[in-house]
Amino acid sequence: MRPEILYPFFTETESLPGVGKRIAANLEKVAGSRIVDLLWHMPVEVIDRRASPALKDILFDQIATLEVTIGKHDSAPAKSKKPYRVWCHDDTGTVQLVFFHPRRDYILTQLPEGEKRLISGKVEVYNGQLQMSHPDYMLPLEKRSEIPEIEPVYPLTAGISGKVMARIIGDAAKKAVALPEWLDKSLMEREQWPSWFEALDAAHHPKSLSDTYSSATARMRLAYDEILANQLALEIMRRQTKKKKGRIMEASGKLSSQVMDNLPYTLTGAQQRSVQEIKADMVEPSAMMRLLQGDVGSGKTVVALLAMLVAVENGAQAAILAPTEILARQHYKSLIEMAKSTDVNIAVLTGRDKGKARDAILSDLASGEIDILIGTHAIFQKDVIYHDLAMAVIDEQHRFGVEQRMSLSAKGKAGISMDILAMTATPIPRTLTLTVYGDMDVSRLDEKPPGRTPVDTRVMALTKLDNVITAAKRAIDDGARIYWVCPLVEESELLDLAAAEERYRHVSQIFGEKVGLIHGKMKAKDKEDVMSDFSAGKLDILVATTVIEVGVDVPEATVMIIEHAERFGLSQLHQLRGRIGRGADKSTCLLLYGSVMGETAKARLTIMRETEDGFIIAEEDLKLRGAGEVLGTRQSGLPKFKVASLEDHTSLIAMARDDARLILEKDPDLSKERGKNLRVLLYLFERDEGVKYLTSG
Ligand code: ADP
Ligand code: MG
Repeated sequence: MRPEILYPFFTETESLPGVGKRIAANLEKVAGSRIVDLLWHMPVEVIDRRASPALKDILFDQIATLEVTIGKHDSAPAKSKKPYRVWCHDDTGTVQLVFFHPRRDYILTQLPEGEKRLISGKVEVYNGQLQMSHPDYMLPLEKRSEIPEIEPVYPLTAGISGKVMARIIGDAAKKAVALPEWLDKSLMEREQWPSWFEALDAAHHPKSLSDTYSSATARMRLAYDEILANQLALEIMRRQTKKKKGRIMEASGKLSSQVMDNLPYTLTGAQQRSVQEIKADMVEPSAMMRLLQGDVGSGKTVVALLAMLVAVENGAQAAILAPTEILARQHYKSLIEMAKSTDVNIAVLTGRDKGKARDAILSDLASGEIDILIGTHAIFQKDVIYHDLAMAVIDEQHRFGVEQRMSLSAKGKAGISMDILAMTATPIPRTLTLTVYGDMDVSRLDEKPPGRTPVDTRVMALTKLDNVITAAKRAIDDGARIYWVCPLVEESELLDLAAAEERYRHVSQIFGEKVGLIHGKMKAKDKEDVMSDFSAGKLDILVATTVIEVGVDVPEATVMIIEHAERFGLSQLHQLRGRIGRGADKSTCLLLYGSVMGETAKARLTIMRETEDGFIIAEEDLKLRGAGEVLGTRQSGLPKFKVASLEDHTSLIAMARDDARLILEKDPDLSKERGKNLRVLLYLFERDEGVKYLTSG
């Protein structure tokens, strides 16, 4: 339950003066619907209104607060297009106030002739005359305090002016109350951080432009609070998993040595290390919750198999959950091959298996005949009953929701938690790993299996398409298969599709029948057919939008052409290129760029040419773009941060992680004084999912 002290923060913005349905709806677009959302909406700039020069000393385009006497009104006839002008002066000169389509009576009452007024806004020169159009403030001299000296400027949304936005957020800030301190005193002293309330106040009342930078002291404090809430929530979840009773599974090595003896290669150092880490988890009495992070081609499959064999060696079952039918079948094929020297019984179950075939699998599963099951979401449906499922591998784990992962976990023995190994081929920077996967232990496959020839990556202008086609012809004559990825047109799948179809027609005209097309709008079955034709060599060229399935393995494909490569993100290019260079033959990747290319795009393509290491690419990507983009929307899982910016506040993440661990070691249920305050923090940032696991409260 949300602590009472936070109630004011979570009331609707409509409760603020002057905020009705329409403004609330606009606020929601840019910030959110509650007061607290406005508090996290930070100024990006300031308007300095402190200058109050005499009219003769005004600088060009200066923002100034002028003390003037109101003179004559030049009201153009109603309906005329001419603006309404009001002459003003001081001892040194004159300035014209200019209004387009004004409410006349309003101007007459605000600016009575002969009176003194404070006028604040931007002064311009027009036909040799100083003028200010639509001043921001027009007030009697005694109301000077109503004009902010430094006015915060907020990111705007349609339908709300800057001034109104500043006023509304100012009102929202007034609703905020001081909260009990949750940070460690010595940390605050060391960093010279103010209290939360002071920090919030300072962030919304910048005294200079630099106060709006994310490196400003107040902003650092607020960002730290948010990152700490994130780390604390993850750490609570992690401790919760650790607390659950798991199964002690000791690796006898009987089956794994049979597999290893049969492998045509030896494990890389990274693979060995990962297998050891997994085995160490599995022998523990608590449940395993480990993420195996490794680039496409880094050899995750064999690690997963060796992990599952530990369960099988213990007389239990294991399963792999794959996001697509194609991937499930591919895993099946490679696992059968790797385990052929053992008597381990491996089966595959997907949505395609129906009737008698499915019944047979289900009955072998229930009797324990099947040791390892591979499949899609079909493997955790209600009527799927395992004899003794003790370990699950979740491939491309970001493609599954929490509920799906839970459904799978529920297939284990009652009262005992299953060991989970999640896998992902999306390398993310180390710093971000903490914020995304802080509740898991992480193993990294940061070493490629040997014997792979590096992909020869070239960056070329799209105008050289003729040369590309000649080269493609030659490659096909030499037996190559080619991926041809079409430009990303916009954020629209339909347009992407049109471009791909167009390119498909064009390429077919040149290369004839052995050209296929694959895109996201196709039925799963059709996609699979095209993929298997390509895999079997019935197609030489596969024209594709960016949806080529993750992890699909066609070792004979050695050429990848990416049109308008400058429009793709770095991780995306990396994922695409990962599809080639999988066989023994030399592979080539052609990155074709269009005529307009910005500096960042150029930098991206250069990085692509220089490295194939997904972890390095991810770090570079983080530097070039924001953290949100690095992970993209599709690879969700990145928690949304409101105040903190993962690029700017990276240094705070590790600090907060250590802080969170220490806090929970000393006060596992957050029941001591600081602990209670930290609970408020968790609720403030809505990271309270884990609080229910803490005993007292
Ligand atoms: P991932 O699933 O991480 O993309 P895979 O497990 O499919 O990668 O492995 C990619 C390829 O590398 C496979 O053909 C596999 O047989 C091979 N491979 C895996 N580990 C090694 C190794 N240590 N040495 C040589 N080849 C390996
Ligand atoms: Mg794989």
